[in-house]
This record gives sequence, structure tokens and C-alpha cells, in this order.
Amino acid sequence: MDTTTLYQHSTLADLTAGLFSGTLPVSQLLQHGNTGIGTGDGLDGELIILDGIVYQVTSSGKVNKLQPTDKVPFATVHFANYDKVATYSGLDKDQTLERISKEKPWQNIFYSFALEGTFKYLKVRAVCKQEKPYSTLLEASKEQAIFVAQNISGKMIGHYSPKLYHGVAVGGFHYHFISDDHSFGGHVLDFQINQAELGLQAFETFQEHFPVDSKDFMDFDYNNLDNIAEQINSAEK
Ligand SMILES: [Zn+2]
Repeated sequence: MDTTTLYQHSTLADLTAGLFSGTLPVSQLLQHGNTGIGTGDGLDGELIILDGIVYQVTSSGKVNKLQPTDKVPFATVHFANYDKVATYSGLDKDQTLERISKEKPWQNIFYSFALEGTFKYLKVRAVCKQEKPYSTLLEASKEQAIFVAQNISGKMIGHYSPKLYHGVAVGGFHYHFISDDHSFGGHVLDFQINQAELGLQAFETFQEHFPVDSKDFMDFDYNNLDNIAEQINSAEK
């Protein structure tokens, strides 16, 4: 099992462009990793992948499990092999990300973090399933549902991407959460840790897989899409 490769299907830029149709079956995605994040077909919710199970948090707040034949438009996965490096207590979001970014000299590579424990406060969002013809990610993100929880235990899984790759991924940190009872989760907007253990995993290789069977993608003209970087920041942060 290769634990040094981060595998991504499609790009954030493709989502920004409104290429929301699922293009890779879950069964194929899971051949490249058992852990990660993504979104569902038609931008249907937030995915968090743990132990080879793809959990989907929809905009109703319900958590489903995707089936092997379900297709995803975007996902980033790896085989988990985290080193436990620290325990954090009482930190807010900015303090946590600052501390994570200083644990290792990994600013120029892709890496993953897992933060598992109890959280005093968590604010997550889930994007809403879109209907064709699709708009852009920025437009779709304006319809997102926001959920808040207090005193909840669970796991955050995320990736760090070097700034240079903003557009391919979200430059910096991008992370999703799921509660231990699998009833609450989403794309994380804000949080405060009670106590959580940090695991880190570095990648030597970033493998980018393109949706070559998608005519919409293959025919798409990126010259018609302005400000991809800014749109990703507005939609994802
Ligand atoms: Zn996300």
C-alpha cells in the first residue's frame, strides 16, 4: 500500500467552472486511498472518507454513505498512515492552523492532517445539490447550509497544498469533519478545540487524475473563466 502518494480526481478549478457532474465511481476512487475529502455528484454535499467509507453530508444535514457505483466530480484521497505528533488543547481555528503549519518544515509539499478528539465549537457547511445547467462554484456556495455544534467529538481530515497549487487544489488547508457517531459533519468553517490529537502524513507524490471521459471537461475553455484563484478563496474559505 502506497502511503506516500496523494491522489486527486479533477481539480478545484474544474469545480469553480461548474463541472459538477460525477465523473469517477467511488469504487475506483477507493483504489487510490481510504481517507480524504471531496464532493458529491452535482455538488451534492461534502464528502469525508474514513477507513474506506465515503460519508456524504448533504445540505439537509443528513449523513449518507456513498455506494461503489456513485460517481464523484472531485475528491482527494490517500492511504492513511499518520504520525501522532501533538495534542492540542483550547486552541481556536487560526491558532490550530498556525501550530500545524509549524510542526514540520513541509510548506512546499502536500501533506495531510488528522485532528481527533473533542471540540467545544464547530461550524461547518454543506453545499447544495445543483441542477443542470450548472452555475459556478461561487454561485453554488451562496446556497450552502451552515451547521453548528457544541461539545462534539469527532475527526477532522484535511490536506495542505502549497500555495503554488492553488487552483489545482485549495492552496493552504482544506478540511472536513465528521462526528464519532457519524451524524454531523461538513466542510469546516470555524472551530475551537477542547482537546485533540494531531496526526500528520507527508506525501512525496501528488497524482492528478483528469476526468478524460467527461466531454464537458474536455471541451471546456478556461479562457472564459476569470479569477479562478479569487473564486476558490470566496467559495472555500
Ligand atoms: Zn471542502
